[in-house]
Order: sequence, then structure tokens, then C-alpha cells
Amino acid sequence: MADYDYDLFVIGAGSGGVRAARMAGGFGARVGIAEDRYIGGTCVNVGCIPKKLFVYAAHFAEEFRDAAGYGWQLGGADFNWNTLLNNKNNEIKRLNEIYANLLKRNNVVIYDGRAVVTGPHSVRVNGKDLSAERILVATGGWPQIPDIPGREHIISSNEAFFIETLPQRVVIVGGGYIAVEFAGIFHGLGVDTTLVYRGDLFLRGFDAELREFLAEQLRAQGIKLLFNTRIDRIAQHNGHYQAHSPEAGALPADLVLYATGRHPRTHGLGLETAGVALNDKGAIIVDADYRSSAPSIYAIGDVTDRMNLTPVATAEGMALAHNLFNRQSRRVDYRDIATCIFSQPNLGTVGLTEAQARRDYKQVDVYKSCFTPLKHTLTGNPGKTLMKLVVDRDSDRVLGVHMVGPDAGEIIQGLAIALKAGASKATFDATIGIHPTAAEEFVTMREPVG
Ligand code: NDP
Repeated sequence: MADYDYDLFVIGAGSGGVRAARMAGGFGARVGIAEDRYIGGTCVNVGCIPKKLFVYAAHFAEEFRDAAGYGWQLGGADFNWNTLLNNKNNEIKRLNEIYANLLKRNNVVIYDGRAVVTGPHSVRVNGKDLSAERILVATGGWPQIPDIPGREHIISSNEAFFIETLPQRVVIVGGGYIAVEFAGIFHGLGVDTTLVYRGDLFLRGFDAELREFLAEQLRAQGIKLLFNTRIDRIAQHNGHYQAHSPEAGALPADLVLYATGRHPRTHGLGLETAGVALNDKGAIIVDADYRSSAPSIYAIGDVTDRMNLTPVATAEGMALAHNLFNRQSRRVDYRDIATCIFSQPNLGTVGLTEAQARRDYKQVDVYKSCFTPLKHTLTGNPGKTLMKLVVDRDSDRVLGVHMVGPDAGEIIQGLAIALKAGASKATFDATIGIHPTAAEEFVTMREPVG
């Protein structure tokens, strides 16, 4: 048997790579990991975690306004961007250390540098050649910005987490998770916010009714949503920018943020030298056990462009470590994965949309509840909540649970377990609610609306 430096060499210390590496190390494998940017990857450094901290920061604005109805007179609230930025950066630094320690505690050797595959069993990192019985590519994704005139004036979410001053006006291009979440963040922090989306309604792929409802909620708060609108160039104008649109004219901005999707990070990794096949988007093609077309090379997470969510990458990392080093055959179940857009209010969802259910099932019942949250009965806040259950009439099984409203992420996470367990509508009905909560509406909807 060939004598390799490592049993597993992981390229990329993001959510998936770190989980696979530390579990493999924990199972006794000799593991190395290389990271050229930041330990913890996108989620910890320029994604989920700092994003959620920013969402909390932005949400205080609404809380302060709402407080008046409950008798609180707060005076002028003063927001300091630098304080938020510094506190966020310190917290991320703390998390970077925790991630590094987790790896070290499981005997994983960390290489601070960019690794390139040089063959089916070899990598080069920081000028050093290393061999490994297996290589795991977990390099994630990278923001994709169209190449339009003025491209140099555009930032992506990577930079948005470090801007030095908060702009007065922002133009955000895109209609996916990141665009919608940042629209809420900037708006909450007092920035004049315009979101520009090329299609007729943002958040393609989510339940149509929820998309419409969220659009109404955001517009009512004062976020400008321009749909069916393209941007064809960005010009600099008196120290500011103008995003030029054939449909909307010149949109003034102090910051132009593009959130137009992320592409798998496979370029320049040397994958071709080992015969790793990529799809037309540059994602590594893997089988059900994360093995690429090169049998010694595996890939998990966003670089495979399957379901680009942190918990999916970590689940894949765990499954792989068990498969390779713990003699347990594990596979991730990709059905009914809950997800949430941390807009304000949140859009949380699990299972099939109404349209998907109507396509796949003969008879579908839809239950809905749209209401003013109890909290807002005293605040005057016009925000409303929408909840929706999609049910297969034949089996009575709940196929989809959807919500736009405060804490939808927290609520849908709980209901995702019910869906995963195959809960029927009768089980929802038999569940006694917690009163008064918003979530109890999910167990008190009795009459189908369609
Ligand atoms: P998404 O894929 O979610 O959305 C991309 C958006 O950009 C779509 O609205 C798309 O439009 C639009 N777009 C794509 N290309 C262009 C173009 N050339 N010009 C104009 N618009 C364009 O990507 P995001 O960047 O928002 O997020 C990346 C991924 O990160 C997500 O898919 C998600 O998996 C993950 N993520 C998850 C979060 C969470 O779980 N809360 C938070 C943030 C990110 P169209 O619909 O017409 O194709």
C-alpha cells in the first residue's frame, strides 16, 4: 500500500471542509486542511453569521419605533456603524479561533495557504508537495458579477461586510437570498434602499404567494423594489454612482451591491490534472457518496452546486467522514430541507410550494392564515404575517409549510421536524397550540382555501 502523508487532505476550511476534517480526525484519520482566506469560510466570515448579526442590528430600528405604543419614549436613537463593524469583526475573530481549535483538537494539520491539486493523490500548498490517499475539495462558491461597464464600482456581499462608511443610498441588484437580506439590513440601518430585479417577482423558486406578500411588506416599509428592471452600466458621477437602467433610468447610489448568484470555486485548482469532471457551471460532479470522476477525489458543499446552504455542507461533511473513516454508510436526505430568508419579516419555508404540490399531486388543499401579530395591536406597525400549509388531500400528508412573519426561521425550523416525520394534517390539528403565539396558527387552520 502506498505510503501517503495524509489519509485525507481537505482543500477549503469552510463549513463542509472543517466538519469533514475534524470528524475524520476524530475517527483517527491523519488529516490535513488548507485554507487560503479565512477559517470558517463564507458562513462564518462573509455569510450567515455576520449577516445575522447585521439583521439583528437593523431590526432594532423597528423595535424602537414599536416601543412607543407600549409607553416607551426613547428619544433620538443614534446608530454607529463603526461600533457594529468592530464588534462583528471581534466576534468573527473569536469564531475563527474556535474553528481552528476544533481542527487542532482533532489532530488536523492546518495549512495557511492555497492548495492546488497536482495529481489524484497529491496537492501543492505553500510550495510544498504533499500526498494523500484521498483529497476532499470543499472550496465553496464565489460571488458572480456580470461584466458590465462600470463593473469596478460594484461590490459583492464579500465587501459589504467591511464597508467603512454606511452609504446614504444603496442600489442592490439581484432577487435572491442575499439581495433581499441586504435590502432589509440597509433599510433598517436608515439607508435609502432600492432593490433591482430583472424578473417580474423576486425570490424565484419560493412559494409565489409568499413572494408577493413579502414584496408588499417590504414596499410598505419604504424599500423600493424595481422588478422587470435591468442595469446595463454603472457610472461614477460627482463622487457618487449612477446605476443605469433601460427601464428605470439613472438610479443614484453611494453604494452598488450586486447579489447576482455565486459560482462554484473550482478555477485554478488543478482539478483537470487529476481528471475531475465539472459540469457546465464549473461545479464538481459527484456521485451519491461525494466521489468525483477521479476516484480518490471527493467534493462537498457549494463547490458541487447542489443545495447551497451551510447545514447541507456540514451534513455532507459528516456523512463523508463516517463513510470513509467510521465504517458507516451514510447519505444526506435532501428532501424537505427547511430554509429561511432573513428578510424583515423573515420568509421561512419547508417542503413543496403550492405550485410544486399541484404539479405532483392530484388534489391539494391549501390552508392559510393572514393576520396582524398581537404585538402590533399596540404599535401601529402595519406589518402582517402570512402562514400557509400545503396538504395532499388523498394521504392527508402535509407537503409544505410556509411563513412570512417575525421569527419565521425559528418557527419553520421546528415544523420541519414534523414534515420530516411525515406529519398529516390531522396530526397538526391534534396538536394543541401555545397561546398566544403566532406559531399556534399552524395548528388551528381548519378550512382549506383552495
Ligand atoms: P441566488 O441564486 O439566490 O439569487 C441570484 C439572483 O441574482 C437571482 O434573483 C437571479 O435572477 C439574479 N441574477 C443572476 N444573474 C444575474 C444577472 N446577470 N443580472 C441580473 N440579475 C441576475 O444567489 P444569491 O447571490 O442571493 O445567494 C447565493 C446563494 O447563497 C443562495 O443560492 C443560497 O443558497 C445561499 N444563501 C443562503 C442564505 C440563507 O440560507 N439564508 C443567505 C444567503 C445566501 P433570476 O431569478 O432571474 O435567475
